[in-house]
Amino acid sequence: MNTIQPQTEDQATVQVKIDSSATNLLGLDRTGLEEFFESIGEKKFRATQVMKWIHQLGVVDFQEMNNLSKGLRNRLVESSYIQNLQVSEDLLSNDGTRKWLLKLPDGNVIEAVFIPEDGRGTLCVSSQVGCALDCSFCSTGRQGFNRNLTTAEIISQVWLASQLLDEEKKPGRKITNVVMMGMGEPLLNFNNVVAAVRIMMDDFAYGLSKRRVTVSTAGVVPAMDRLGDVIDMRLAVSLHATNDELRNELVPVNKKYPLKELMAACRRFIDKQNSRSRITFEYVMLEGINDRPEHARELIKLLEGIPTLMNLIPFNPFEGSGYRTSSNNAISRFRQILQDSGMTTVVRKTRGDDIDAACGQLAGKIEDKSRRHRRFAEPRFGME
Ligand code: SAH
Repeated sequence: MNTIQPQTEDQATVQVKIDSSATNLLGLDRTGLEEFFESIGEKKFRATQVMKWIHQLGVVDFQEMNNLSKGLRNRLVESSYIQNLQVSEDLLSNDGTRKWLLKLPDGNVIEAVFIPEDGRGTLCVSSQVGCALDCSFCSTGRQGFNRNLTTAEIISQVWLASQLLDEEKKPGRKITNVVMMGMGEPLLNFNNVVAAVRIMMDDFAYGLSKRRVTVSTAGVVPAMDRLGDVIDMRLAVSLHATNDELRNELVPVNKKYPLKELMAACRRFIDKQNSRSRITFEYVMLEGINDRPEHARELIKLLEGIPTLMNLIPFNPFEGSGYRTSSNNAISRFRQILQDSGMTTVVRKTRGDDIDAACGQLAGKIEDKSRRHRRFAEPRFGME
């Protein structure tokens, strides 16, 4: 494991916020930027010029934007700013995974992780400070919840990662895919996540295709429907159980949106997509809990008719979780049953283990407003 010297505050924020009505241009998608330019009496096409400067060229100082007139640059300085998050830790794993702890203006810390694989580089992005969903096997959930990230805070993770990976000047260290699988439930921060995804996919910004941006949800059914209505992109669903009784325990949001409704929402989502793509299902392998052959067979039945990419995730343990990872044998057996039914099934490799960057290990440093942290710190007995 290596620690890379974090950037200074000056590098993160060149433009200083002038007054509270000023806008952080980093968080505006194309439509938002067009509206902004119109509001200051400028032509809409300035939006794409400025998007290119910020997201493609990494320029955050208006004075460097030399296809804008001097007058306009000065006006931008008065009415707006471009502010990134501050890198408070920068960790490089032996397997090439790189994780950033990013400090928010209110002192909370979130995490973003770059995972290099053959021919691609995936950035795992956070959508909230903590998470309110309280999944029993997830360490982010145990930390409790503080607030939604703004669009600027979401996109800043992509901006910083691109810049810092560029600085490595090594082949193959480029973001080709983004997964909203960091801290938080993206669909409970709907508008900000959708705007950030639009920036990721914009040809004047990061230009990622709709197959290369994935939003992962624990199953917030109404928001899945809305997502399908407004944007064409990949969806991942954290399933983890094949019946309501077990899923209520592992993923408590299931009590609100049980499996039958969730599966119906998946089918509706697929129907809405232009390019009838697949849904990725995530299934964490917990020893003795959800990893038996009969679970695999139930899974096949549950997902019948849904174009599926199954992602089996060996459970990443953390202190006090109370769960163990399934054995390699149990995982292979489970995978074989799914594959024999014709389901494309991959076992996700654990990456960045030495820097705590694996799924469910992202913890950041948050001030919990749900007081869940305290609840877990208390002895379990005598509570009920
Ligand atoms: N809230 C969203 C986004 C988080 S994605 C969602 O639930 O989909 C993070 C993925 O890692 C989810 O599939 C989550 O269930 C899984 N995960 C959480 N804790 C884990 C752990 N300890 N080991 C393995 N996977 C875990």
